[in-house]
Amino acid sequence: MASIGAVTKQIAALEISSKKHQQSSRTGHTKQPSQTNVAKLLTKYAAPHPPTAKTTQPSALRNQTNANAPARISRAVAPSEPQPPLDIGKYDGGLELDNEKRGEKVFGEAAEALALDSSVLGTRPTREWSLPSFEIGRPLGKGKFGRVYMVRTKCEPQYILALKCLYKSEIIQSRVEKQIRREIEIQQNLRHPNVLRLYGYFHDEKRIFLMLEFAGKGELYKQLSKHGSFSEKRSSRYIDQMADALTYLHSKHVIHRDIKPENLLLGINGELKIGDFGWSVHAPGNRRMTLCGTLDYLPPEMVEGKEHNEKVDYWALGVLTYEFLVGNPPFEDRNSVNATYRRIAKVDLRIPSLVSPDARDLITQLLKYNPEERIPLTDVSRHPWILKHRPKGSSRGGSEV
Ligand code: AMP
Repeated sequence: MASIGAVTKQIAALEISSKKHQQSSRTGHTKQPSQTNVAKLLTKYAAPHPPTAKTTQPSALRNQTNANAPARISRAVAPSEPQPPLDIGKYDGGLELDNEKRGEKVFGEAAEALALDSSVLGTRPTREWSLPSFEIGRPLGKGKFGRVYMVRTKCEPQYILALKCLYKSEIIQSRVEKQIRREIEIQQNLRHPNVLRLYGYFHDEKRIFLMLEFAGKGELYKQLSKHGSFSEKRSSRYIDQMADALTYLHSKHVIHRDIKPENLLLGINGELKIGDFGWSVHAPGNRRMTLCGTLDYLPPEMVEGKEHNEKVDYWALGVLTYEFLVGNPPFEDRNSVNATYRRIAKVDLRIPSLVSPDARDLITQLLKYNPEERIPLTDVSRHPWILKHRPKGSSRGGSEV
């Protein structure tokens, strides 16, 4: 079995040889293979658009799906000898263990609401998936409603995914079945490099399974905890990617409302992925959560119970920028929730001197009491602090950090 690193190298090597071939026939100009090329291939390898095998599909739909589908690795790189499969780690049997202990069958209206299956979608149906479609590897983590595993599709081209299991009975107990259904439907239609893809979903008697893009570098929150804070460059690149992702979400009329480090994952090249659209209420204990979640990212209009719009995400972006650079959110008061509320409502913002003037300017422009005065996302993308750290030749944040 090959490690991720080894496969990355192999893919890189294959990519180099195929690029060389293309380039020599074009300009004779040889370019060193960039990380991005490797990333593209690894993404092809790791991120499926599930092939639509249903023969009953209208041909227009088949074509549309195929046009979006990544090339199969074998065709993309034409390997001369068989490649060892990517090591997905050892399965611990957790899904079966859990299923015996915590899985209860559900009935009635709730069962109908949770009979979620992407193969019967009106638009963009996927092929039919079920648990035996996957080889299960190492556990990636535990959420409130179930475990997440690294998996590989058994069918060619053997995509790598994160398979997230949610227990229906627990969703019903938490009374979030409608929310989960809606969030899954929204997520299924989103396509952006900094938004975690949901490729498909299926269910059995007790569980719902989400086929998610595998975020190879795990949780951003863990990185932030490990380092305390991020450098200006790293923070700026993340915020650039966030601004791009939020612009995309807002263009689709999706307001995230829950931007915070705990909801962000990192792709194989360290690129940021917005990874939680509300269906996953995080496990308490390992995260900064109260029963209702952290207050630190709430904008004044929500704290004051007023109506809100997509500008709540602008505010959260300001809080995120501050937390990346300083290591804690700007209005945090560990002693009292009310004190945090008051500080938010007053915009009691104190930025430490270690923060550069450019970053300070952006934070101040995002953290405005009046939502209409917050700097628009298009202006965030061309703010001097963002442009200063953006990789040369990139029109946006780039995917690597
Ligand atoms: P969640 O239920 O979303 O809180 O997921 C539980 C844990 O599984 C997270 O804390 C991550 O460490 C891990 N995880 C969830 N989704 C993914 C993913 N798409 N790729 C890699 N790890 C993931």
